[in-house]
Amino acid sequence: MKGRSIRTRVTLWFSVSLIIVVLLSFISFMIVSRTVVEKTTLNILRDAVENNLDEVEFHDEIINDEMDQDSDYYMKYSDGWLEIDDDFLSSVNGVYCAVYDVSPGCPELIYGENPIADITKACEFSNRDLQKIVTDGVEYHIYDRKVRSEGLKNVWIRGVISDEQNAGDVHTIAEITIIILIAILIIAILGGNIIAGRMLNPISSITKAASKISRGNDLKERIDIGEGKDEVHELADSFNKMMERLEVAFADEQQFTSDVSHELRTPISVIMAQSEFALENSNKEDDYIDALETVKRQAGKMSKLVNDMLTFARLGRNSGVYEKIKMNLSEVVESISEDMALIEEKGIKLECEAEPDVFVNGNRELLSRLIVNLIGNAYKYGKDEGHIWVKVKVAEGKAYLTVEDDGIGIAEDEIPKISKRMYQVDSSRNDKGSGLGLYMVKEIAEFHGGRIMVESRLNHGSKFIFEISTF
Ligand code: ADP
Repeated sequence: MKGRSIRTRVTLWFSVSLIIVVLLSFISFMIVSRTVVEKTTLNILRDAVENNLDEVEFHDEIINDEMDQDSDYYMKYSDGWLEIDDDFLSSVNGVYCAVYDVSPGCPELIYGENPIADITKACEFSNRDLQKIVTDGVEYHIYDRKVRSEGLKNVWIRGVISDEQNAGDVHTIAEITIIILIAILIIAILGGNIIAGRMLNPISSITKAASKISRGNDLKERIDIGEGKDEVHELADSFNKMMERLEVAFADEQQFTSDVSHELRTPISVIMAQSEFALENSNKEDDYIDALETVKRQAGKMSKLVNDMLTFARLGRNSGVYEKIKMNLSEVVESISEDMALIEEKGIKLECEAEPDVFVNGNRELLSRLIVNLIGNAYKYGKDEGHIWVKVKVAEGKAYLTVEDDGIGIAEDEIPKISKRMYQVDSSRNDKGSGLGLYMVKEIAEFHGGRIMVESRLNHGSKFIFEISTF
């Protein structure tokens, strides 16, 4: 409905503007045509009279033979003869020319034609002047020339042309112009309407697809409006890309929910089994203690998972829970390393070497989790009697925290996957993890505008580098 109304509005606006432009062009064109035609008419009139000027001559005397031989017109005039050459054109290109004797009294037409001779008699003769007379609604232009030939004092040539002559031309021009302009107008309006329709059709496809998605929750829906590079195609393209991202994010979210449920199911089952066993079968204190320890361990696992999920939610929403301040990264790393060096696991030795006073803009709680996770993994995946090297360095305005171990390492093709949510290289390598540790590390690094880089060789060890701008 909306599309149609936009289409109608576009067409209407376009048509009205076009009609105004066409009308204005028509009026201007007609004014110009009229002026040009009138100018041409007056030139024709002037030329006709001027050309006839030399054809009228006076002779004192004339030989009879001469009169007989040629076809010129001779008439007695004053005390001589007036000769009008046969080249004198009385009617040419709509112009009527007549020779007048304008002796005192009244002008008398002595040769030629004048369709309004009676009326123009009253019109005074004026050399080289253009005059205009209107009679019976028709406009006439008059042009007079006095004949300058010795012996002739009052002989004039008067040319008359009717305006109907050029009105006819103007009419023809107007008719042709109107037909052409109306044809252009119809083609433009119809074309405009079709183009507007074509432009808006994809928008209604987009609307249909969007409402289909919102009704049916089908994130697989895409808009197909064919090939094109205009704005509407760009819109459809952006919409499709958005749907693609939503689909991936939604699938990811579903996968995560299912993974988390799965992770929670194991400790819950263990807790339930242990509780039931202790309640039904046992009456010894040691059994109760064992059962409670298992419950505590499993509850701890669940608590960690739930806490991690809460942190992700807060990081993802950028909720403002985690404030960043200027903090001494070296101090935090040294303090955590000192504490973790006390872990007596597999005889692994931890060494820490940090450039003093490396300041960054960070959240102490989150950065501590990042460090603990990286060192924790180095222990988890370290080999017996192995080593862990923790370092903090500064280079070109960036601080680098590296946690390196000589443990089991990671296969090359696994490296890009390890920081994915809940990804574990091989669950048999570790039964304590959930695959959320490195994902958390990556999220925390990104929250600080930093990044995590991994270098690792299977069976040789791994190196995790956290890069962050210095304060
Ligand atoms: P998990 O809970 O399984 O430790 P993480 O996200 O911390 O999950 O790690 C993902 C995977 O990356 C682990 O399953 C492990 O195989 C591998 N990994 C992480 N750190 C190391 C390391 N220092 N050495 C070898 N493998 C590691």
